[in-house]
Amino acid sequence: MRKPPDIPKLIAGIRASDRASLAQAITLVESRAPKHRAPARELMQAILPYTGGALRVGLTGTPGAGKSTFIEALGMMLCGRGKKVAVLAVDPSSSRTGGSILGDKTRMEDLARHENAFIRPSPSGNSLGGVAARTREALLLCEAAGYDVILVETVGVGQSETAVRTMTDFFLLLQIAGAGDELQGIKKGVIELADAIVVNKADGDNKMRAKLAKVEYTKVLHFLHPFTPGWKPKALTCSALNSEGIERVWELIEGFRDQLCESGVFEARRSEQNVDWFDSLLQSIVMERYRAAHGEQIQRMASAVRGGQMPVSVALDELLGE
Ligand code: GDP
Repeated sequence: MRKPPDIPKLIAGIRASDRASLAQAITLVESRAPKHRAPARELMQAILPYTGGALRVGLTGTPGAGKSTFIEALGMMLCGRGKKVAVLAVDPSSSRTGGSILGDKTRMEDLARHENAFIRPSPSGNSLGGVAARTREALLLCEAAGYDVILVETVGVGQSETAVRTMTDFFLLLQIAGAGDELQGIKKGVIELADAIVVNKADGDNKMRAKLAKVEYTKVLHFLHPFTPGWKPKALTCSALNSEGIERVWELIEGFRDQLCESGVFEARRSEQNVDWFDSLLQSIVMERYRAAHGEQIQRMASAVRGGQMPVSVALDELLGE
C-alpha cells in the first residue's frame, strides 16, 4: 500500500460490498506502519454503525479433522441460500512458518470462486493478541460489507481457541472418531469452550465409529459446565466430504442464535466481548510502552529476582516507586 489510502472511497466500496475494497481495507488495518494508523482508525470509526449484523461462528479442530472441507460444505450451502459468507482465520503460527495454514484459498476452491464468499488468510504476527486484534477488525469490516455469516477458523495452537471464542457468538469443535479413545489428544479446556462438537467423517466404514463418538461426547458435555449461559452444548455427526449433516449443524447454530437473542444473552455477550477486547489491548499497549520506557530497570529487577537477591514484591515496589 504505497499511495495514501482514500478512506471515503474505501468506505463506499465496502458499503457496496466490493471485495477488492474490503481486501484493501483489511490490509490497511493489518498494517503496522505508523502512517497507516490514523487512516485505519478513521476507517474503523466510519464503518462502526454498519457492524454487528452477522452471525459470528468460530471453528476449531486439529489439522486433518476436516475444517476446510467443512467450511467449504457449509459455506457453499449458505451461499446457495443467498447468504454472504466470509471466512477469516487466526493462526499465530503463520509468522513462523512463513505462511498461513488456515483460510487459504487453495483449500476451499469452490467457495473461493463463489461470488457470495470472501476468504482471507490469517494476518501474520508474533503475538496471538496482535493477530486476534487484527482478525476482529477484519470481522467488523466484513460485517460492514454486508456479510451475513462470518466463519473464524483456528487450529489448536496454544491459546488461539480462546481468542476465537472471545470474538464469536457460536463456537464449534470439529472432531474425528478415534479408536474408542475419543478424548485422547484433545484438551479438555477446548471442549469446555464449545457450543457444539461435530464429529466429522461420518461416512463409509467410519460411520458407526463416528456415531459412537457422538454418544461419548454427548455424555462428556452433559457433565461440563456450559460456556454459554442457558445453552446445552450438543454433539452431532456429519460428513463434510459428502455434504451430509451440514444442514443440521446450521439449524443448530440458528436455533442457538434465536434462543440467545430471546434471552438477551446474545447482545450482552457481544458487549462483554467488546469490553474484554478493549481491556486486553489496553493491557498490552500499556505494557509495551512501560517496557519501552523502563526496559533497563525491568531487566535489573528481573535479574535480582532470578538470582534470589530480592523478593518479587520488593522488586515490584521498587520498580513502580511505591
Ligand atoms: P483441516 O486440516 O482440518 O482443514 O482438514 P481438511 O479439510 O484439509 O481435510 C483433511 C483430509 O480429510 C482431506 O483429505 C479431506 O478430504 C478429508 N476429509 C475431510 N472431511 C471428510 C469427510 O467428511 N469424510 C472423509 N472420508 N474425509 C474427509
